Amino acid sequence: MYINIHTHKLQPSENVLAVANLSLQASLPASNELFSLGIHPWDIPSLTPSQIEEHLERIRIEPLFAIGEIGLDKLKSSDLTAQIELFKAQIAIANQREKPIIIHCVKAFNELLQLKSAFKNPAIIHGFRGKPSLMENLCKAGFFLSFGERFNEKTVEETPLDRLFLETDDSKTPIQSIYQRVAEIKHCDLTSLKKAIEENFKRLSAKR
Ligand SMILES: [Zn+2]
Repeated sequence: MYINIHTHKLQPSENVLAVANLSLQASLPASNELFSLGIHPWDIPSLTPSQIEEHLERIRIEPLFAIGEIGLDKLKSSDLTAQIELFKAQIAIANQREKPIIIHCVKAFNELLQLKSAFKNPAIIHGFRGKPSLMENLCKAGFFLSFGERFNEKTVEETPLDRLFLETDDSKTPIQSIYQRVAEIKHCDLTSLKKAIEENFKRLSAKR
């Protein structure tokens, strides 16, 4: 089984277990599809306080698999304090519901590391492109890392198999080819890579 931990496409395909990230306005997918839902930092400037409250309420009650993608983005003009506040509110909901979190983080890894003790359930940093040293700090802090179409090869090579996920995000590259490339870079066979990620996936429903 291939696991695609983060995609924006609702496209069930055989032998792939995917977690589809829904937009806040989207209706729920057909039953037994896994999805994540959350207020992305990019959405903050366009939302009124009452819309944010409405979305948070949805995140509190929908039968979601994970809360996400949520997080911090310093390249976006929205105020970082507001981003942190909303991020914390959603982490609290994930803790209460015992759900994993899918994190969007751009140029705000120090701030993320400062929040590490807030996470009571597994949290995955999606689309990770950072260097090996940052990867090490994040793994030590208990985060999982997910790699998509573009990544730092050295980082992928060095990331422990028990900390790793793969994703397509919004790219058209099939998840199978990302698995293939990562297996080559990590000098491991496809079967062991699939097995390792399946094990990680099972750990998502446990406590951090
Ligand atoms: Zn995404």
